[in-house]
Amino acid sequence: MTARFDEEADLIVVGFGAAGAATALRASERGASVILVEKQAEDRHTSNTRMSGGLLMTVNDVDAATEYLKFCCGGMVPDAPLRALAERASTLKPWLEELAPNLGLKRVNGAEHPDFPGAHGIDAYQGGNPRVRIDPAVKSGLMLDDALKSALAKTKVDIRWSSPAQRLVRDEGGHVRSIIVETPIGPRTLRGRNGIVLTTGGFEYDEAAKLNYLRTYPMYYYGSPANTGDGIRMAQEVGADLWHMNQSVGRGIANFKLKDGSDLGFFISINPPGYVITDRFGRRFANEESQAKLQHSFYFDLLVFDPDRGVYPRVPCYWFFDETRRKAGPLANLNLGAHVVGLYEWSSDNSQEVESGWIAKGNTIFEAAKAAGLDDPEAAARSVEDYNATCRNGAADPFGRAKETLVPIAAPPYYCVKLWPGGSNTTGGPRRDEHARVLNAFGAPIPGLFAAGELGQVSGLIYPADGFNLTEAICYGQIAAETALSNRKLEALPGTHEDPRATAR
Ligand SMILES: Cc1cc2nc3c(=O)[nH]c(=O)nc-3n(C[C@H](O)[C@H](O)[C@H](O)COP(=O)(O)OP(=O)(O)OC[C@H]3O[C@@H](n4cnc5c(N)ncnc54)[C@H](O)[C@@H]3O)c2cc1C
Repeated sequence: MTARFDEEADLIVVGFGAAGAATALRASERGASVILVEKQAEDRHTSNTRMSGGLLMTVNDVDAATEYLKFCCGGMVPDAPLRALAERASTLKPWLEELAPNLGLKRVNGAEHPDFPGAHGIDAYQGGNPRVRIDPAVKSGLMLDDALKSALAKTKVDIRWSSPAQRLVRDEGGHVRSIIVETPIGPRTLRGRNGIVLTTGGFEYDEAAKLNYLRTYPMYYYGSPANTGDGIRMAQEVGADLWHMNQSVGRGIANFKLKDGSDLGFFISINPPGYVITDRFGRRFANEESQAKLQHSFYFDLLVFDPDRGVYPRVPCYWFFDETRRKAGPLANLNLGAHVVGLYEWSSDNSQEVESGWIAKGNTIFEAAKAAGLDDPEAAARSVEDYNATCRNGAADPFGRAKETLVPIAAPPYYCVKLWPGGSNTTGGPRRDEHARVLNAFGAPIPGLFAAGELGQVSGLIYPADGFNLTEAICYGQIAAETALSNRKLEALPGTHEDPRATAR
C-alpha cells in the first residue's frame, strides 16, 4: 500500500546549505527532478554556509589525506567513508572552478596539524582574496553561497523557502518514502521516488541536545540560529544510529544576549598580541596562541572539570586586553558570521559593545575582571602582572608562548570579555556510510534515507584543516545524490559499515 502524498519528485533535499545545494546540483546534473525545502525565508537566509569564511579543504594525495583524516578522527569513523571523502575532495577544486570561475580560489593554508601522518596530502583554498581574514570587505562564505545559488538558479530544482521539514514517513517495510513539511499553505507530504536527503545542519542552537551530548555546558556557536538539530530528531524517529554527538569544531568564542534574550555567538580575534586568558578563578591555564591563530586546539583546554569545586573552571574563561587592542579593530571578525547576514552590526572601534557591557571595562585589571563577573578578580590582576613581568624581563613563558607574542597588557583602560567553549558547528548526527546512506543501530542502511554535511559529518576528534566542513558538506552532498539516484541497486550495495572499535587507536 502506498502512503498518501501531496507532491512527488525523484529526490527531496531538506536544508539549503552547501550540502543541500551540492546534492540538488548533482541530482539535477543527472537529470533528476528535485524539490529542495528550506526552513528559513529567502530574504532572511542565514545558513552556516552563508555565514562561513568560505574556506575549502582540498586533497592533493588521496592515500596521504586518508591517513591524515583517519588520525584526526581518533577511531570514531571507519576508513571507507574517510577514503570516499578524500577521493571526492581531490576533485572539488576543478568542480568549483567550473561551476563558479569568479570565486577565484587561492591556496591559503595546509593541514592544521602538519606533523600528523599524511598531512602533506591536504590543502586549504579560499575564494575572494587570501587576505580575507584581515579584510572585512571580502566575504568569501557569502560569495560561495551566492555561487551555489546562481548555479541552482540555472537548473529546474524547485526551491521551497519558509518550509521547515518535520517528520519522515516510512512504509510498512521501513523504507523512507516521504517527508511532512510545514509550508506557508499548511502541511504537505512530499514523496521522493529515490529517497530523502537530510542536510539540515547541526544542533548549535538546541540547548537540550547540547546539554546532553556535548562535553561541557554551556557551549555556544557563532552560526545560524536555525540549526536546531531538526534532522537528528527526524532521523532518530526512523531508527537512525547517532555518532560522535560529543564532538565539535571548537575554540573559545564570545556569546552575548540580545535585547530579546536570545543568544548570539561571535567569532572573535584575540590578536594582535597583548592578550591573556584566565579561568573563572583568575588563573592562566594554557598557551593562548592556537586561539590567536584561529585554530582549534585551545578548545580542548577548556573542557577540564574540577570535581572538588563541582564546576568547569574554564567555562567561561576570561580574555584580558588593553586600550591598544580595543583600538586595533573590531574584536569580532566582520567578514563572516552574524555581521555578514545582518543579524548584528559590530562597531568598528568596539565602542558600542563596551557601552552595552558586552566588553567589561576598568581602570585596572582588577576592575575589568570584577565588571566581567570573574570569581577572583585579585587573582586575575596577579596573573596579568606575572604575565607582564615575563614580557618585560624576557623570561620564558610558563605556558610556552612564543617570544614575539609576549606583549605587555599595559595601556589603560583595561578590558575583559568572557569566552565560552563552542565554535562554528557541531558535527554529530545520524551515522552514515561512504555512500551517504543513513545507518540504523545495527549498521544497516535505512532504505531511502541519506544525509550530508554538518548533520553527522564524516569527522571525529580533531578538526583536520581550514575548510574541512564545507568540503565535507559538498562532497557528501554529491555522493548522497549519486547513491540515491542509483537506488535500484541500493539494497544490493555491500554492507561496508565497520565496527568503529576495530579502528580505534
Ligand atoms: C561564522 C562561520 C564561519 C565558518 N567558516 C567556515 C569555513 O571557512 N570553512 C568551512 O569549511 N567551514 C566553515 N564553517 C562551518 C561551515 O559553514 C558549516 O559546517 C557548513 O556550511 C555546513 O553546511 P551544511 O549544508 O551542512 O549546513 P548549513 O549551511 O547550516 O545549512 C543547513 C540548512 O538547513 C536548514 N534547515 C534546518 N532545519 C531545517 C528543517 N527542519 N527543514 C528545512 N530546512 C532546515 C537551515 O535553515 C540551513 O539553511 C563556518 C561556520 C560559521 C558559523
